[in-house]
Amino acid sequence: MKTELLQFQEVLQDVSLKPYNTLHIGGVCKYMVFPHTCEELQQLLLTIQENHLKYFILGNGSNVILSDEYYDGVVILLSHFDQIVYEGNQVHVGAGVLMPKFSMDVVSKGYSGFEWAVGIPGTIGGCIVGNAEAYKESTFDYLVDVTVLYQGTIQVMKKEELSYAYRTSFFKEHPGYVILEATFQLSKGNYEESMEIIKKRKEKRMNTQPLEFPSAGSVFRNPLNADPSGKLIEDIGLKGTSIGGAQVSQKHANFIINTGNATSNDVRNLIELVHDEVKKHYGIDLEMEQEYVGWD
Ligand SMILES: Cc1cc2nc3c(=O)[nH]c(=O)nc-3n(C[C@H](O)[C@H](O)[C@H](O)COP(=O)(O)OP(=O)(O)OC[C@H]3O[C@@H](n4cnc5c(N)ncnc54)[C@H](O)[C@@H]3O)c2cc1C
Repeated sequence: MKTELLQFQEVLQDVSLKPYNTLHIGGVCKYMVFPHTCEELQQLLLTIQENHLKYFILGNGSNVILSDEYYDGVVILLSHFDQIVYEGNQVHVGAGVLMPKFSMDVVSKGYSGFEWAVGIPGTIGGCIVGNAEAYKESTFDYLVDVTVLYQGTIQVMKKEELSYAYRTSFFKEHPGYVILEATFQLSKGNYEESMEIIKKRKEKRMNTQPLEFPSAGSVFRNPLNADPSGKLIEDIGLKGTSIGGAQVSQKHANFIINTGNATSNDVRNLIELVHDEVKKHYGIDLEMEQEYVGWD
């Protein structure tokens, strides 16, 4: 191990990435670091820069397609950035907190706002980057500000300074920013009513999404002025199409599932096949929602 990286409290070497993403694919990374504080993260990024190492911030890995290739760099996980602090009708939440946990915490404290998000298996950081949304509500709808680390400096960015749209945000276009914490606006809630909404949302997902298999959620964004991607894919008979262990879900055609032993190449080849078939049949160039990571 590079001695420079030994100074950090929690460093692993030669780690399989499979358990760290919801599709359960991917190769081995050289280093995985779990910083405990902002200062440690600052120092880590400086060390990475000085040693010309590659790095990547991984949330819960629920929107990425990781390569099977060896990742000769540092994967950083912010799972220790896990604080949730309420202040009036606002809440400050660490980037590493999982959205389902946050959503339930908000309800349990008597607030309302994030019932829609209970089934999104991402971290707060990942949900801000991709402006995660469901049932016509999105992460940015409730955002007040984001605390980031950028070029060695911690700064607070107000929502007004940040561009965002359907499943995207300023941060998707500017990967140099590391999200540390976010502040969200809540309203006073009613526990029973919120739990009823959550129950319905969970049931709907169970019935419409292949939650029994590893996946990374919807593969493609829904195109403008056309049917949703899932319907386009289903209507040309691609449900159930497989390459190796990757399969277009029978339950929801915009999900590609890992039936057990999918490689990253299986998943990527299947994504490309679906994309090309949709293009051939409808002339629509579907855009990926998921992100390829580690494919040089
Ligand atoms: C079963 C299932 C259902 C889903 N349903 C939905 C849904 O309803 N709506 C929806 O919008 N999405 C959905 N998704 C997709 C996914 O959960 C979201 O996109 C989520 O926001 C991704 O968060 P993550 O922590 O997993 O991010 P990752 O996949 O780990 O990372 C995504 C991107 O964010 C970056 N990133 C992560 N954390 C930080 C940080 N702290 N600072 C800077 N960059 C960071 C990464 O570098 C990467 O570029 C679903 C996924 C699954 C598997």
